[in-house]
Amino acid sequence: MTTVEERQPEQHVFEADVSRLLHMMVHSVYSDKDVFLRELISNAADACEKLRYESISQPQLSADGTPSAIVVTLNEEALTLVVEDNGIGMSRAEMIDALGTIARSGTKAFMDRLENAKAGEKAELIGQFGVGFYSSFMVADRVEVISRRAGEDNAWKWSSDGKGSFDVGAVDISEAPTRGTRVILHLTPEGRKYTSKWTVEKIIRDQSGHVPVPIRLIEKDGAEPFEVSDGAALWAKPKSEISKQEYDDFYRGVSNQYDEPLANIHFRAEGRHEYTTLAFIPGSQPFDLFDPDRQGRMKLYVKRVFITNEAELLPRYLRFVRGIVDTADLPLNISREMIQESPILSAIKKGVTGRILTSLEKMAEGQADTFSKFWELFGAILKEGIYEDFEKRSQLLKLARFHSTMSDEATRSLADYVAAMKEGQSGIYYINGSSLEQLKSSPQLEGYRAKGIEVLLLTDGVDNFWPTNVADFEGKPFKSVTQGLADLNDVAGEAGTSDRGPQASPEVAAFIDFARGSLAEAVADVRVSGRLIESAVCLVATEHGPDRQLEKILQGAGRLQTASKPILEINAQSELVKSIASMDNQAFREDAAWLLLDEARILDGDKPTNPRAFAERQARLFTLAIGQGK
Ligand code: ADP
Repeated sequence: MTTVEERQPEQHVFEADVSRLLHMMVHSVYSDKDVFLRELISNAADACEKLRYESISQPQLSADGTPSAIVVTLNEEALTLVVEDNGIGMSRAEMIDALGTIARSGTKAFMDRLENAKAGEKAELIGQFGVGFYSSFMVADRVEVISRRAGEDNAWKWSSDGKGSFDVGAVDISEAPTRGTRVILHLTPEGRKYTSKWTVEKIIRDQSGHVPVPIRLIEKDGAEPFEVSDGAALWAKPKSEISKQEYDDFYRGVSNQYDEPLANIHFRAEGRHEYTTLAFIPGSQPFDLFDPDRQGRMKLYVKRVFITNEAELLPRYLRFVRGIVDTADLPLNISREMIQESPILSAIKKGVTGRILTSLEKMAEGQADTFSKFWELFGAILKEGIYEDFEKRSQLLKLARFHSTMSDEATRSLADYVAAMKEGQSGIYYINGSSLEQLKSSPQLEGYRAKGIEVLLLTDGVDNFWPTNVADFEGKPFKSVTQGLADLNDVAGEAGTSDRGPQASPEVAAFIDFARGSLAEAVADVRVSGRLIESAVCLVATEHGPDRQLEKILQGAGRLQTASKPILEINAQSELVKSIASMDNQAFREDAAWLLLDEARILDGDKPTNPRAFAERQARLFTLAIGQGK
């Protein structure tokens, strides 16, 4: 029953984010306003599918037996366009919540991106993203939504001019659909073209031809409805009968993204389990890709009835994939809890994951350019699987592509790396950091460069985790060039590079002993370096200590109180080091040792240990140098 207060129209204020979105809509961020219709039709289709799903456990909800349908009605005189469905409908509370707030996490991310985007980029971003119900306000100056939830005796009307607030009140059920939702757009004068049959029919065919609910059009008051789209499931048709255009349209409907997909994977599995999958690799990054709570977005259907978006049909590292899985092997009335535990579903998940990975392998072999594009967009996500999915690890390692000292593009595979290994080289070398620029100028790379040894340059967050977790690739262990001894002596040098074993003159050796004493509180050791050529110093981690880059990340995230002490390596051949070692002024040697440590820190992208002491030491050295120069 409804209370008297609920029956009165009541004014509500839009949530701040809705107001932001509405402002963007009205100021017409979309150059292509036609998209409002696909958004309304997509909501109507979702509502029909939700009804089919809820009716499985509550058959009385659709006891009248009317099949799902979406009807679009045009009225030129009244200047209205109406989209009506006989789906699940909305209760009063659902209306206030659904049409007064923004639920989709991607929408917020999208708005933030859009506000910060440059003009040219804006149009592109907008084209990729569906912004939902509120897009109605691009073409209408008032929108009314009349809805009656399946199984309820009351109907409600939401109405707004899109300027900050909306009203919700009861309407007589004779004015509402028997079940479902009617969205009435009072078009602006410029919106008049959306009362033309030709225009609207074309938009529906182009944009919504593959929603799984039939769509009918009534061209004017009193006219007979005619069918624009039959609502047949595209995935059930044979591949040979489906055009690229049809696939792309379907992708747009299923993903809420409006780019062109990079690839589709459409197959029917037979045998122990029977299911059909139609999956897509998007052509751009979804806006919530890096949201830590983000699960997959594959829709589960059972015998063409939509069940849920939340079945986790793919592992997290494939969360960019969009599409559907339709199976006849599950009962229609499967509960959410059963879905999570169903062994059939885990078998399907395994099968679909395997197929997607083999499709990516084929793409890598046969369409190198598409694969590079894929890797640029989603490589960082796929690499999470190297760490998380032990079973697929070797397959994922083969797919992975890298920047390296031999390639400015992320195109080197581990197989390429292994093929280019030098005689005597036992491991796969890598270095972690936050930017390629910083990595390329790391002193730790000098010795490897001089010997022509390739080093992988790893800059994604996940790169800090997997190399230490993966024992090897084809028997070759992963080794960080900033950790342990450089062991470069076993590797044959390129022509022209002599072996620079860790030999130090007695003077330099004595200075190193001295520095070890002076710097004891800051470093674990000071030693001669086998990896430096030009630079005087660098910092490395101990052989079995944690990676330095990983430590920095953990410290930055407040997850690590004290970092372990690094090792300061000194280039015994450096002219600077030799000159310092030749001075016996104790105060000078002390300052020089600390300044060398700070230099190594700065080369690593860090600050001097103690900026004030650094400045004072530098000042003393300058004064000394100037005094000698006079
Ligand atoms: P989205 O569809 O991405 O969630 P929208 O802004 O388009 O975002 O819609 C917001 C919500 O309003 C929907 O999630 C749904 O709960 C509700 N809604 C919109 N249209 C309908 C409809 N025709 N029938 C039932 N619920 C609807």
